[in-house]
Amino acid sequence: MRANLLDYDLEALARFCERLGEKRFRAVQLFRWIHQRGVSDFDAMTDLAKSLREKLKVAATVQALTVISQYESTDGTIKWLFNVGAGDAIEAVYIPEADRATLCVSSQAGCAVGCRFCSTGHQGFSRNLTVGEIVAQLWYAEHFLRKHLARDERIISNVVMMGMGEPLQNYAEVLPALRVMLDDHGYGLSRRRVTVSTSGMVPSMDRLGRDCPVALAVSLHAPQDLLRDDLVPLNKKYPLDDLMQACERYLAVAPRDFITFEYCMLQGVNDTPAMAKELVALLSRYGGGRTSWCKVNLIPFNPFPASGLLRSPMAVVQAFARTLTDAGIVTTVRKTRGDDIDAACGQLAGEVKDRTGVMVRMDRRKATGANALRSVDQQSAELVYVAQ
Ligand code: SAH
Ligand code: SF4
Repeated sequence: MRANLLDYDLEALARFCERLGEKRFRAVQLFRWIHQRGVSDFDAMTDLAKSLREKLKVAATVQALTVISQYESTDGTIKWLFNVGAGDAIEAVYIPEADRATLCVSSQAGCAVGCRFCSTGHQGFSRNLTVGEIVAQLWYAEHFLRKHLARDERIISNVVMMGMGEPLQNYAEVLPALRVMLDDHGYGLSRRRVTVSTSGMVPSMDRLGRDCPVALAVSLHAPQDLLRDDLVPLNKKYPLDDLMQACERYLAVAPRDFITFEYCMLQGVNDTPAMAKELVALLSRYGGGRTSWCKVNLIPFNPFPASGLLRSPMAVVQAFARTLTDAGIVTTVRKTRGDDIDAACGQLAGEVKDRTGVMVRMDRRKATGANALRSVDQQSAELVYVAQ
């Protein structure tokens, strides 16, 4: 089987080049062609020796993912649904803002953590994505956008691992993928512009801090173990005190001097004034008494029927935010983006309705080779995630 070069960080590509009897530095050229210029055809890599190109054609491919569908929101957000085989689909979402452009990427097909408020969690776990499948989301989005927006320079400035899956339960594949994103010869993103979001995989947080300390977001959602056990079942294994201590350890190596805590606002569940006070008390117990050690990002819940949960009213969210801000904790309320295409990052408001249907559609699209941009209206007939 030919190697998929999207599976390799620069070091692994250098070893691959050595196996082909080539000098290691060839890997730099090859890596730049692939990631900086988006080229997958070895014949187009004109400054590589013809003999190397011939060897590559036999031994390697640059295998991207097949696009099942693409939805573009009126606010510029674009969501892609990619086929990862065997009826599994994953999502990546591009979110342009005034001062940055963020890509939200997936790390697993499904998720084993099973949070109550998360549609990915409700689907269960299918499998880990490979390095190449994680990198391919960025590779595809970046180079599609350059063509789509007719721009030559880098478009995506930030990556957040807040799509489907728990990145720190797929550590072995996520780590090389992060290295490709950070590599100067790859996407050249700084560590502070790449964020791993975790529901609290304590041992892997420590590993990440040692191996590749990118920005960290922790999905908290509750200030007490009893409630968090129910919302985020991983809490039973790594309860709040363990988690908060791991955050403190991470802080010592983090690229910024704070950790972000995500808190999904669920009506009548975790959004009361008493909960806000408990959250202040919890966060104040850690970080050496310095409130600036953390930031809280309140996420309006994206409801879906199977959850049996509701989004907190905006006034409640604002009041909750005020309690935190009054205590000196920097708090933001996440803007919902791409609502018209059901694309809010990490908030997959929907459920995979019918896996067979997904496969039929995938086959049809493969047959037509259609993956061009089309209007949301045309595509709505083949929505896999059912908009709520
Ligand atoms: N597994 C990781 C990363 C993916 S989820 C994690 O849990 O952190 C990314 C973020 O989206 C998490 O903070 C998660 O709690 C949030 N999220 C999941 N489902 C949501 C929903 N229905 N509405 C709002 N936020 C949601
Ligand atoms: Fe998994 Fe994150 Fe969803 Fe929880 S919120 S089920 S950890 S993807």
